[in-house]
Amino acid sequence: MARNNGISHEVGDILGKMTIDDLPIKGKRVFIRVDFNVPLDANMVITDDRRIRSALPTINYAIDEGAKVILASHFGRPKGKVDPRYSLAPVAKRLQRLLNKEVYFAPDCIGSQVENMVSKMKEGDVLLLENLRFHPEEEQNDAVFAKSMSKLADFFINDAFGAAHRAHASTVGITKFLPSAAGFLMKKEIEYLKGVVENPVRPFVAILGGSKVSGKIGVLQHLADKVDKVIIGGGMAYTFIKAMDYEVGDSLLETDMLDFAKETIDNLKKKNVKFYIPVDSVIAQTIEPAAETKIVTTQEIPKGWKALDIGPASVKLFSEAIQDAKTIIWNGPMGVFEIDAFSRGTYAIAHSVADAYALTIVGGGDTDYAVHKAGVSDTITFISTGGGASLQLLEGKDLPGISALSDKKE
Ligand code: AMP
Repeated sequence: MARNNGISHEVGDILGKMTIDDLPIKGKRVFIRVDFNVPLDANMVITDDRRIRSALPTINYAIDEGAKVILASHFGRPKGKVDPRYSLAPVAKRLQRLLNKEVYFAPDCIGSQVENMVSKMKEGDVLLLENLRFHPEEEQNDAVFAKSMSKLADFFINDAFGAAHRAHASTVGITKFLPSAAGFLMKKEIEYLKGVVENPVRPFVAILGGSKVSGKIGVLQHLADKVDKVIIGGGMAYTFIKAMDYEVGDSLLETDMLDFAKETIDNLKKKNVKFYIPVDSVIAQTIEPAAETKIVTTQEIPKGWKALDIGPASVKLFSEAIQDAKTIIWNGPMGVFEIDAFSRGTYAIAHSVADAYALTIVGGGDTDYAVHKAGVSDTITFISTGGGASLQLLEGKDLPGISALSDKKE
């Protein structure tokens, strides 16, 4: 299937903020906040560079426009101290390969040595600064630290969608000192996660999974007003199943969420939103690869057993429910997909979503991983690069890193 199957989602200017192409960046120093927080293996080799690749349109634009391109990112959790395990040096090398041009690497993100390196930059040069989180002031959104960073540049661009839900010095503080705009990735994330969700082509189906209801309350509340169908899988489904008076054995259950689950079911009914939960599950007594498994209907989950994946009848039900969708948003796996024995439901749904004649949006780290592992990522219209940030947008909340940017002039 095509990536958006010709379905046109006109979202207009949903961002309402300046973007990099609104600014006269030729010959100017442009500080671009990116999210280069990529996974490394034990040998410090990058195992997945999609976050770096996602920032390339903005970086390449700035290079082509003749800006002096200064890149800054956080990386891991070095707890405010210099720690070589969290150096961005391996990222500089990978970026150099991806851009096919020299990437200079600064040993810090503020200070006279870095200022000196910036002063020597020529148009089109690229300089990556060392991990912002080597300074505790970054996460404290410290104004003095933000001002020191701002001295390096003439303009600030935020393209770090994955960090946009955090009010840090490099996402919010720095905007007090420089004209600020969004990068192309940021714009795209907002267009899909806000624009399409606010103005979907119908039927619009939300598929929610993952471990806990408590993590998705806000999303459920916000989407209840917008969608035509809600499909719930994963561990969170069993709190809903219990709320419907079925026994769930030893499955994940949030007793303090039972009232919310009941209210949600009633609320969706009132709004005429169709609601789907698993009709069968793969169960086991332990969450282990070698555990004995059974497939049982929702009415039959015995004591001592945990439901760890949706069963084949649920896969069929859910797949049929999304068949006529024109817009699908999916966040959260259908089971403990990290273990093969409990992964089939998630991968089957990944295929159904990819096969649907719809605009498809996938958000959240686990779901992103699942569609890649299922080999269908190329047929998903849009995969968000931010976990927490995408959830916050789906809750209908603003992101501090976006609110802080300069408003677009009429
Ligand atoms: P979340 O971070 O809330 O999106 O949850 C993702 C996690 O939920 C994954 O690590 C899954 O292993 C886990 N998960 C999904 N389904 C279940 C289930 N039925 N029981 C326990 N954990 C689950």
